[in-house]
Amino acid sequence: MSELTELTIAEAARLLRLHSISATELVTAHVEHIARVDPLVKAFLRFTPELYEKQAEEADRKLKREQGGLLTGIPVAIKDVLCVKGVETTAGSQILRGFKPPYTGTAVSRLFDEGAVMLGVTNCDEFAMGSSTENSGYFPTHNPWDLDRVPGGSSGGSAAAVAAGEAMIALGTDTGGSIRQPAAVCGVVGMKPTYGRVSRYGLIAFASSLDQIGPFARSVEDAALVLEAMAGHDPLDATSSDRPNDVRRDLDKGVKGMRLGLPREYSQVEGMEPGVNAAVREAIKALEKGGAEIVDVTLPHTDYGLAAYYIIAPAECSSNLARFDGVKYGLSVQDVDNITDMYMRARRQGFGTEVRRRIMLGTYALSSGYYDAYYLKAQKVRTLIKRDFDEAFAKCDAIVSATSPVVAFPIGSRTEDPLSMYLCDVLTLGGNLAGLPGISVPCGMSQGLPVGLQVLAPQWREDVALRVARAYEVASGVKAEVASVG
Ligand code: GLN
Repeated sequence: MSELTELTIAEAARLLRLHSISATELVTAHVEHIARVDPLVKAFLRFTPELYEKQAEEADRKLKREQGGLLTGIPVAIKDVLCVKGVETTAGSQILRGFKPPYTGTAVSRLFDEGAVMLGVTNCDEFAMGSSTENSGYFPTHNPWDLDRVPGGSSGGSAAAVAAGEAMIALGTDTGGSIRQPAAVCGVVGMKPTYGRVSRYGLIAFASSLDQIGPFARSVEDAALVLEAMAGHDPLDATSSDRPNDVRRDLDKGVKGMRLGLPREYSQVEGMEPGVNAAVREAIKALEKGGAEIVDVTLPHTDYGLAAYYIIAPAECSSNLARFDGVKYGLSVQDVDNITDMYMRARRQGFGTEVRRRIMLGTYALSSGYYDAYYLKAQKVRTLIKRDFDEAFAKCDAIVSATSPVVAFPIGSRTEDPLSMYLCDVLTLGGNLAGLPGISVPCGMSQGLPVGLQVLAPQWREDVALRVARAYEVASGVKAEVASVG
């Protein structure tokens, strides 16, 4: 039955509607596959059998009556930062161990409304801070293409689960690249929507002006479908938009006549591997063959993006994470002298090294006397970066580049040097600073490991990003394959 774990949503939906398979069979095939491969991949932190058994039965009842939604019976994995009622949700952190949210966040509940079946909770870097999933407060996840390597991060568990055929689709979050980068290095499709496209209600916040929830899938069409199911205004998130939810409208129109911009600065970033560059150049040729016009564009403030991001994101995280004080949620410490002692011990015990580093950086950047020099300045740089994109999009419909300058690296090889880890996001974080939609789609291999092509589009033009990514997928015939593990 292993083919059942290699299907796309469109293929599975057909079989389900023809009653050739049941939702229960589809879920069981995934659960059995997980039992075989997850001891090696370690994509999941926990499983949710009470939920998937009930949801699969419900899906089968609906299918019998020829009812159901866009995702009826489709097995999904959820990153450990999205609240699901009654399911332990910890943001990959010990400080939240045992926390069971009393409600389900909007993005997840919309997938449930469309009939999706939740298999379990996926591993991630603690509070989504990292690019390798090695900062998880539990254990590292392994890349299904080479178990000695990282799956990227921070949504590494979700990317690895989809790449290994453990889940058909998954949800992640992207603050500086945490959907697109792991998608690229695990060889699957991952999309970060426009800031405001998907409600963040029920997302454990890292940096609220940058965070977005988005899908992982094994085809562009599947990613578009999941995005459509989640998108749209939510009265519970004031930053969510009520613009038309039309992300799939031009999916199959191809790139003929479109102008695709190549930012000069993006091919020259520090640490860009020649094999990645070569795969991306091939991909661009395929798009040109498909009728796109390739134009040079420039994003002159690219060099300052990383510095601005690593002030803004820690500043927002230092404020967001102040609520974890060992009183209301998760971990609590005993035998304390006084309340300050309790806060200090809970936070010291509960947070890992990277989270503590970010809280300190952010608190410093926001402190009086330093605010103007750091936070305010970083916000001004953010405006310049946004302007760079506006000017580039005056010359092209979408921007194409590598997603990550490097392929998956060996576990442990970058943990001692946080700066080398931060460099993984140099091509993705501009999209977050400017609030743009971006997608990563597999574009071949380098050193036997997957490479991702990133497509960035103007705000609210997910339709454009998806159209270009889909055109590439069709023109190249490069499909997201399930990695064979073990
Ligand atoms: N790797 C980046 C960071 O550590 C981005 C993380 C993310 O997008 N959540 O902040």
